[in-house]
Amino acid sequence: MISTHVLGFPRIGAFREHKRALERYWKGESSLAELADVQRQIRAFGWQAQKDAGLDLLTVGDFAAYDHVLTLARRLGAVPRRFRTTDVTEDVEFLMARGKAPTGQPTHALEMTKWFDTNYHYLRPEFDRSTTFSALDRSLDSEVLEAKAFDRSLKVVLVGPVTLLALGRWLESEGSPLELLPALLEAYAATLARLKSLGVACVQLDEPILATDLSDEWIDAVRTAYGRLGDAGPPILLATYFARTNDRRLLFRELPVAGIHLDLCRDAEAWEWAAEAIRDDQYLSAGVVDGRSIWRTALDETHRRLKPLYAKLGDRLKLATSCSLLHVPYDAAVETEGPPALRGRLAFALQKLDELRLLKRSLELGEAAVRTELSEERESRAAWQREPGVLTASVRRRAAAVDRAMTERAEPYPSRAEQQAGRLNLPPLPTTTIGSFPQTDAIRAARKRFIDGQLSPEGYERAIESEIAFAIRKQEEYGLDVLVHGEPERNDMVEYFAEGLGGFAFTRFGWVQSYGSRCVKPPIIWGDVDRPQDLTVRWAKYAQSLTNAPVKGMLTGPVTILQWSFVRDDLSRADVARQIALALRDEVVALEAAGIAIVQVDEPAFREGLPLRQEDRASYLAWAAESFRLATAGVRSETQIHTHMCYSDFGDIRDGIVALDADVITLEAARSHDELACEFGSAGGYPREIGPGMYDIHSPNAPTLEEVEQRIDSALSAFPIERLWINPDCGLKTRTWSEVDAALPVLTLAAKQARERLATTA
Ligand code: GLN
Ligand code: ZN
Repeated sequence: MISTHVLGFPRIGAFREHKRALERYWKGESSLAELADVQRQIRAFGWQAQKDAGLDLLTVGDFAAYDHVLTLARRLGAVPRRFRTTDVTEDVEFLMARGKAPTGQPTHALEMTKWFDTNYHYLRPEFDRSTTFSALDRSLDSEVLEAKAFDRSLKVVLVGPVTLLALGRWLESEGSPLELLPALLEAYAATLARLKSLGVACVQLDEPILATDLSDEWIDAVRTAYGRLGDAGPPILLATYFARTNDRRLLFRELPVAGIHLDLCRDAEAWEWAAEAIRDDQYLSAGVVDGRSIWRTALDETHRRLKPLYAKLGDRLKLATSCSLLHVPYDAAVETEGPPALRGRLAFALQKLDELRLLKRSLELGEAAVRTELSEERESRAAWQREPGVLTASVRRRAAAVDRAMTERAEPYPSRAEQQAGRLNLPPLPTTTIGSFPQTDAIRAARKRFIDGQLSPEGYERAIESEIAFAIRKQEEYGLDVLVHGEPERNDMVEYFAEGLGGFAFTRFGWVQSYGSRCVKPPIIWGDVDRPQDLTVRWAKYAQSLTNAPVKGMLTGPVTILQWSFVRDDLSRADVARQIALALRDEVVALEAAGIAIVQVDEPAFREGLPLRQEDRASYLAWAAESFRLATAGVRSETQIHTHMCYSDFGDIRDGIVALDADVITLEAARSHDELACEFGSAGGYPREIGPGMYDIHSPNAPTLEEVEQRIDSALSAFPIERLWINPDCGLKTRTWSEVDAALPVLTLAAKQARERLATTA
């Protein structure tokens, strides 16, 4: 019998119950017991769904209160001293994640960064030579016991030891986190032994790090790790995903693990060699149902490719999702909006469970047993391709006609900079923000009433305008130099644009976890993209009419729109990015024509689209940077183009970032300021203006004057004063106005003092 399983299941609740429960708890509106209750129900829902779909193994350990890497680090006892100020285990995790919890001392949180090339964020554990590990605390055991009630074999999933060390932050100035491997392995071994005694049938250890480029030292660490863990507990399934692993084939065969999981969706070449990558006593877990796409699996094609594998491996073949279903929403069946031809193509987590069941049937009983399902799936694809808007001739023609001149500013940076300085007349160390101001309950209520038809379009417009006016007044009070309208009209920085553009569709409940309690509802790019009307011009114009200070126009860039949407699977990502870029180009030019002197095109997702393998990077960076330039190069030299990026690790894409040719870049850096200075401050640095984030907006705590002063000083030692901007490290929409009131005056005061100091020393 072929067995089926998922690598992980969504954990936010089908209707985001977990988000609400967490936020109530953080605000002190509910107890820990109430939170735990919601969490138990969410886990139970997932196991029941897996059981109902006939999956052979239920997956345990994929749940986390905030982030699974964080939970694992905490369970292993890898908790830096500053978080040990409370006895409430849950609060320790929340302190580590947010710097703040109902109990314990506020402090700075762990660094948060992207999980490989996804839009999920994990918290980077901190390691140093004094880090110790212990066998997982008992909190996982109770989840295992809960799952037992479902009467199926259980598989526990944990991030593998090598990936855990690789993803952490090594705080020592030399050496490597691998120094901790022996101790970590003892903790894993003790954990595995206990899981065995709890009756767990299998342990899935995720080592996605194997899908990245690794030095021999790290490969050896994998050998050491699995040599130690191979028979420490239940049989191990070693899982890799997200990219190519062809260079690990020999390694897989060498390891004393029971099975290897391969992502056959992201690593299509692996279909050729998968059967040879395992020994006779190992099984293959074939990741054939895409855990990162919302499209239905091409069942007949997948069946056709699986057949020879099944013939070769028989029972040693398991069918699985390519990666955890964390990256897709729960249930496409509850979606009622959008064209039926599109809805007919969707498969979210629950539908994917069913696809596993169908594929298993088709292999075991032959295609005839699932003929109706297979032909219905084929038909749904054909119906989508016939739908108007999927192919728009004018969009295709314009995209085909893009030439080099369209992707380059008319003049080189130095002459642009001079004209911009003349026009803007800013002081040294100009202050600004990244764009959004708090999304207040009042805005959300107005938007809801507008959507429900209780508020007229004019009424909604006035509500937005009054928010803009408020934000402008506040910014003038704070003494900022370059203002923003505050983005009150935006539910989300991608969804807002997707709503105004052609080619996008939306879900009602298609939420996925971005980090902690934050969920996103990615739009679906299902047709050709165009721009039937202005997107932001009237808000920018209105904001500019209220002040003499320059107001930055604020757009989301083509790569980020692409990256944070679910993208059609019949065009290359580069082609879709180009369509989006052309639409945005028209908006940038329209802002300029409306008198806006600065346009910021945010690309927070630029880094996250970077392929995991070095050899694939140059081509990504080339088309990604080209689409940014295509979107922005239509303006005159005196118009200043800004961009903004989050989530550090810029060093390895510095050239790609420079290639955007933006006049000013603001960067998230508050949690890793010194690294940024190294990446951009030395050896050529950033050749234009730069605003490294001066405080962490992800934490509710306001920065102190000394902290910001220190940041400015350290930035001044890395970047020339005439090219440095002073700003927070990201948008402020998740903060409250009182938090902003406490933070921004500190920022502007620090900038003012720095200017005075520099003027007297000059
Ligand atoms: N302009 C956006 C904002 O301020 C940028 C957000 C982001 O970088 N993620 O919210
Ligand atoms: Zn940001």
